[in-house]
Amino acid sequence: MLEVKCDKCGADFELDVTDLIEATDVIDGVKLTATYFTCRECKETYLVQLDDEQSLKKLEEEKRLRKRHRFLAKNNKVMHQKQTNKMNQLIKELIHTRTLLKDKYWASFDLNIDGKKPQELN
Ligand SMILES: [Zn+2]
Repeated sequence: MLEVKCDKCGADFELDVTDLIEATDVIDGVKLTATYFTCRECKETYLVQLDDEQSLKKLEEEKRLRKRHRFLAKNNKVMHQKQTNKMNQLIKELIHTRTLLKDKYWASFDLNIDGKKPQELN
């Protein structure tokens, strides 16, 4: 799903959906969801992304389109251009929004894993 390399111990591994852990916090009335994982070797924790309710909705929409895209591809069909554009647009917006959310809220996000906060993933 996502290739990662641990900055601390150098371990390379492929992240699976089941490796991802979610934590929530409310800052300035905004409900935020942090997604993080733990290195399999040294247990260092890393932040994958920070979402608010709006970006989670976009994510759902993007997932739905991606699933449809895959399904059609399997049947040798292509998705309508408009939907493909929409999917790509959502991906772009998500990257942008998550960067903003991380800059704005991550420093105040209350999350403590064995005495420390997950590091930001490079
Ligand atoms: Zn590690």
